[in-house]
Amino acid sequence: MLGFEAALDTILSSVQPLGTEDVFLLDALDRILAEDIVAPWNLPRFNNSAMDGYAVRLQDCSIAAVLTVIDHVPAGSHASKAVTAGTAIKIMTGAPTPEGCNTVIPLEDVEETDSCIRILQPVKAHSNLRLAGEDVSAGELVLQAGTVVQSPIIGVLASFGHSMVKVIRQPRVAIVATGSELVKLGSLPAEGQIIDSNTYTLASAVTKIGAIPVVLGIVRDDVECHREILRLGLRSDVLITSAGVSVGTHDFVRSVLDELGVTNIFCRVQVKPGKSIAFGMKENKPVFALPGNPVSSMLTFEEFVAPALLKMTGHTQVKKPMISAVLQQPLSKPVGRTHLLRVHLKYSEGRYQAWSAGRQETSFLKTMVNTNAIAVLPAEQCSFAAGSEVQVHLLGEAFRLSSI
Ligand code: AMP
Ligand code: MG
Repeated sequence: MLGFEAALDTILSSVQPLGTEDVFLLDALDRILAEDIVAPWNLPRFNNSAMDGYAVRLQDCSIAAVLTVIDHVPAGSHASKAVTAGTAIKIMTGAPTPEGCNTVIPLEDVEETDSCIRILQPVKAHSNLRLAGEDVSAGELVLQAGTVVQSPIIGVLASFGHSMVKVIRQPRVAIVATGSELVKLGSLPAEGQIIDSNTYTLASAVTKIGAIPVVLGIVRDDVECHREILRLGLRSDVLITSAGVSVGTHDFVRSVLDELGVTNIFCRVQVKPGKSIAFGMKENKPVFALPGNPVSSMLTFEEFVAPALLKMTGHTQVKKPMISAVLQQPLSKPVGRTHLLRVHLKYSEGRYQAWSAGRQETSFLKTMVNTNAIAVLPAEQCSFAAGSEVQVHLLGEAFRLSSI
């Protein structure tokens, strides 16, 4: 049986980033840039003033000198005259600096009269001037393919006129819930039935990671029904199923995937919860058969599916960043499997502190409500003292942290 890390590495080496698409700038948020961006022009585009003030010639600006104001340039306009000996042009922040000036005096450093200014403070050369291209020069490589497009990057792209941006395509992820006991959200479960919650957990987690959920609904434990819906699921970029994946007499997911040409890569991992996760590939499409138990399907999604979706979306840092946290209570577990302990993490007194978030049996869904991080307890270790350090990662939001 594969170990926890080996299983993740196997998945990550099987999947590749998808192709590219052109999207409107705002739709590129949180996506991965698929092209290098070269500056088409200088930034600033033209020499301009960094202050509201007066464009002058330094050589005219001894203390108490009086200069005649010959023009006024608001932002968005340009001077019709040049600054000449004994003159000044009033200029606003962002307006192009007129010919002839070599410095800008802030408004507060002069005394203004009707048509003149008097210099009150010593003036320095080249003050308050923003020079064309001093930030970015035309032809410079500004952004590299692979950059995560966050708001500041959107601003950089907008500055260079990119209303459309080439990004990596988002995977379309088919989600199938298997189980004859399941009823749809909206109907009242009869005796022996439960509401399908995994579809909703998985679909929202898929959205949060930046992929597109394709909800295919519930399939009952019947081979023919499985064939039909799993065949449909394989038309998406990724297929996720929940339940029906172990060795019960009504577990058909693995055998039907096999029949449909999905190559089984592994079908058990030394991890708790999540031992019965199966992973396969149909050509370049990954297929994740997750355990049905709601906690197990949530956690196997977090640990195994989310990093794969991030990689397919073009992220390069896809493993969750681990944080050291101080365990606030003693814990023990059997040797042999990595345990994913649901913890409540708090930052206090300069360090992360972790508490068990509640009952750890996988049937206890409520524990998830209090869980904001997962402690990854190594397979070979069996006891963990209060005050010892454990490795944890936050739930969700993985890629924002991992791009640090
Ligand atoms: P299975 O893997 O089919 O043995 O299912 C394990 C447990 O998870 C059973 O108690 C199922 O009723 C439950 N379960 C399976 N699918 C879902 C689902 N979509 N939503 C909620 N619980 C489920
Ligand atoms: Mg079942």
